[in-house]
Amino acid sequence: MNERICKRCLTRDMDQNEYFRNLHAYVENLEEDIKAPKALYEERLSVCKQCDLLADAMCRACGCYVELRAAIEENVCPYEKW
Ligand code: SF4
Repeated sequence: MNERICKRCLTRDMDQNEYFRNLHAYVENLEEDIKAPKALYEERLSVCKQCDLLADAMCRACGCYVELRAAIEENVCPYEKW
């Protein structure tokens, strides 16, 4: 089932649960040719979870939600931790 994606909403317009549901749906539905393989994705997130720069699921070095950043295979950690 496809989740509804709101293309014109800002986070401040959305309730937090809806926002995170959309974020997870976005990661799940990324095109396979740009998406990081599941094992790599999980490995990246485990590194982020050990990192002092992770705060509220966001990387304080780049300002990204790490689940979004890690989901794109070509992305890198700004501190070269992955
Ligand atoms: S992307 Fe890099 S710097 Fe940012 S939280 Fe993850 S490991 Fe830390």
